[in-house]
Amino acid sequence: MNVEEIKNMSLEDLIALGSFECECGKTHPAGTPHVIIESGAINKLPDLIKECGAKKPFIVSGKATYEAAGQRVCAVLDQAGINYNKYVFPFSPVVPNETCVGSAIMHYDHSCDLIIGVGSGVINDISKILAATTGHTYIVCGTAPSMDGYASSTSSMDRDGLKISLNSKGAWAIVGDLDILCEAPMHMLQAGVGDMVAKYISICEWKIAHLLIGEYYCPVVAELVNVALKKVVDATPKLMSRDKEAVKAVMEGMVIAGLSMHYAGLSRPASGMEHYFSHIWDMRSLAFNAACDLHGIQCGLGTLLSLPVYDYIKEISIDKEKALNYVKNFDLAAWNKSLEEFVGEGAGAMIAGEVKEGKYNVEKHAKRLDLIIEKWDDIMAIVNEMPSYKEVYDTMKMIGAPVDPKEIGLSKEEVKTTFTMTKDIRDKYIATRLLWDLGLLEEAADKLF
Ligand SMILES: [Zn+2]
Ligand SMILES: [Zn+2]
Repeated sequence: MNVEEIKNMSLEDLIALGSFECECGKTHPAGTPHVIIESGAINKLPDLIKECGAKKPFIVSGKATYEAAGQRVCAVLDQAGINYNKYVFPFSPVVPNETCVGSAIMHYDHSCDLIIGVGSGVINDISKILAATTGHTYIVCGTAPSMDGYASSTSSMDRDGLKISLNSKGAWAIVGDLDILCEAPMHMLQAGVGDMVAKYISICEWKIAHLLIGEYYCPVVAELVNVALKKVVDATPKLMSRDKEAVKAVMEGMVIAGLSMHYAGLSRPASGMEHYFSHIWDMRSLAFNAACDLHGIQCGLGTLLSLPVYDYIKEISIDKEKALNYVKNFDLAAWNKSLEEFVGEGAGAMIAGEVKEGKYNVEKHAKRLDLIIEKWDDIMAIVNEMPSYKEVYDTMKMIGAPVDPKEIGLSKEEVKTTFTMTKDIRDKYIATRLLWDLGLLEEAADKLF
């Protein structure tokens, strides 16, 4: 597989392909074997159940998603004479924590042999854990194209009050019934677009990390995401009218983004600095009840906050002495204290990450700095591939998505501090690390936020 070939490949073709050899040198593993995104897709559930050899599905759903889709799923199974049991969470919101996972497990019927999740983000994450725990096959009936977790085999969870990514179980089939997806709350459709425009940043940061750190990079996977992203952006004008083709583009984009991480074996194709804004807001919400919103809404905002950062980077003239002095005088103890104060308990993992990684090591920094200076033109070429702030702003505005963090209750000061702390979320080279390496992180924060 090469970049030209992937450009014209439909999602169906890609699924049918299974695992494939790639010009990056890797054999990418097969993804979810069945993806059905069409009107009336849930009518295919009986055939899917037969094909996977299950006798009695266990359906997991939330109150609202049961109304939106669960009832229809049950009707289809009743009509086909398939025996099943179900658990509809009697409370809302359902959150991805121990209590809700425990609740699903304690209502589980051990005579069942298949898990069907009916919902989107949290229901999907919890159902994947139930499937992993019981060892049964998992089918998801998506109710909104709001996040890219449908094709992933991990669950984004709050454990011990911390946001973590837990290994769970990938879906054997993704059923995206357009009659249901088109009825999803508009806020969830906006979230899907937000989680998709995020890929503008993540793909460019993946390329920069490849260039500077020598991180694995696959141009084919990157192109796969680019093509899906373009389709979503092109579809947005028709999204407000809930046009089926437009909603399909978003759902396919969400599935492809999930697949891209599966192919690459890392989250780079789908998440970069824009996602770290979102992660920090989630952690602050857990620790301090601070303002937060849907993952995709936050990632869309994170994208709009990240693009001006790259515009700022374009104008930088590098001062090597200044950068070396900045790093020499960096006060790690004070920094860690500020992380704890701002992020809460989640800061522990960020601080532990640095102990393992040693990104603040003076010698390592000096080497990186030389490399940055040497490769500056190449870095700029990658940065110039990003769309303008206005393009993405117009896309988000067109569908009525939040475009300013204050719309979801975040203050200017919170956003500014979040920006500086994004560099510590993961062991990943992103814009804020580049700015720190250049001794310009605080200057950039003052200027931009
Ligand atoms: Zn590849
Ligand atoms: Zn995401």
